[in-house]
Amino acid sequence: MPKYIEDAYLKEFVTKVISVKEGKFVVLEDTIFYPNSGGQVNDEGKLIAADGEVNVIFVGKFGGSISHQVEPENVLKEGDEVTCVLDWDRRYKLMRSHTAAHLISYFIEEEIGAKITGNQLGLDKCRIDFSLENFDKELLMSFESKVNALIKKGGEVESKVVNREEAAEISTKLSALAKGLPPEIKEVRLVGVKGLVLEACGGTHVKDIKEISKVKFIKFKNAGANNRRIYFEILDE
Ligand SMILES: [Zn+2]
Repeated sequence: MPKYIEDAYLKEFVTKVISVKEGKFVVLEDTIFYPNSGGQVNDEGKLIAADGEVNVIFVGKFGGSISHQVEPENVLKEGDEVTCVLDWDRRYKLMRSHTAAHLISYFIEEEIGAKITGNQLGLDKCRIDFSLENFDKELLMSFESKVNALIKKGGEVESKVVNREEAAEISTKLSALAKGLPPEIKEVRLVGVKGLVLEACGGTHVKDIKEISKVKFIKFKNAGANNRRIYFEILDE
């Protein structure tokens, strides 16, 4: 389990450079940098070594390892001890957005039975895609105040790792997901607000939904056939 999953609030972490490719693609022993995946954009920040420091400008998963693209090039080398320093404002906003996306998706799925088909969580604007035949904008809009009421009340966000058989017993959605997983995947990480449904998720989340502060729905969009889209943002207040 990478450090960013173990503790989403870890802002600094000391580790070692395992490899450096082309002077700029750095793999570390472990990392607090979240790689671009699952609709959540990657973290940014710095790697500080004894001989100098570099900016982390992209983080991705390639062939099972997490690669940090850094600049300037040719500063770090294999075996260096480095301190990872996250751009915490960026990450924290993404954590709040990701937990908010789960709450919004919960209403879209539970109250109108739509299927979530994707999401893209950015810094200014976030997007959730879902599939729905009848498009009732007013009903969808009414979820904004419901989500904000939940946020105001607060609620602990739990996460746990279970084996795929256990996950399959939790909900029909997780059962379908577990069936579709490749055989080499034995475990699933589940995230959910206490009292609401658990979802399979590998992202970073806040500890309590109170930390989201407030959600604002920006607009709904018809993206053809049954494809719908909601754009939202997180407000600080
Ligand atoms: Zn998620």
